[in-house]
Amino acid sequence: MLSVRELSRRYSRAVKIICGASPGSVRRVCMRILIIEDEEKAAEFLRKGLTESGFVVDVVGTGEEGLFRALNVPYDLLILDVMLPERDGWAVLRELRGGGSAVPVLFLTARGAIPDRVRGLELGADDYLIKPYAFTELLARVRALLRRRTERQPDVLQIADLRIDLLGNKVQRGGTRIDLAPKEFALLSLLARRHGEVLPRTVIADQVWDMHFEGDSNVVDVAVRRLRRKVDDPFAVKLIHTVRGMGYVLEVQ
Ligand code: CA
Repeated sequence: MLSVRELSRRYSRAVKIICGASPGSVRRVCMRILIIEDEEKAAEFLRKGLTESGFVVDVVGTGEEGLFRALNVPYDLLILDVMLPERDGWAVLRELRGGGSAVPVLFLTARGAIPDRVRGLELGADDYLIKPYAFTELLARVRALLRRRTERQPDVLQIADLRIDLLGNKVQRGGTRIDLAPKEFALLSLLARRHGEVLPRTVIADQVWDMHFEGDSNVVDVAVRRLRRKVDDPFAVKLIHTVRGMGYVLEVQ
């Protein structure tokens, strides 16, 4: 079993190779999928198929690891097996939804009984596919779920008087245009997309810089300070807040 660290490293490499976001743009041009499946052959079959279909795919083999990844990486979709070691699919889904995650979840399981399907949907699964399945059907369902999600994601984020145009890479506060460097824009977009949520430094470093560090790197603090100078200092209402010992949150307090 790969460690979360090793998975993260492979994952960021995959993002760099496949996503190839255009310079100056932080808009993702690829979709990231997490497969939580303990049967190695089944997981590899899925990973291969989805990778060939243009997705960035991570695979984990336990519910515990899956939950950890799903809570710390903004995936576009989860493919979740029900019978898993450590923590089963039901428990993973319950924890995710209980924590407010709205990531689309496709249940993939050998358990096809109607009560199981109903339970999955009631717990907040978005779709349900029974093994054995045809890959073409899985792919069609994955694409349908992602389409729904993309339609839900706005191109413009508005928090108080802060307005972020994710397509046009433009930021305004109260109608005043704010010019940001690409990494500053990436950092602000991340905080804004997940506003109200305290983001640990490690998550910010991973998402904005594809960096994995432990402990004492201050790259995030330096970048946040620079961002605040532009986004918060000239304005009465402060939006970016430090949560001591935890990280940063963007919200109106
Ligand atoms: Ca299983």
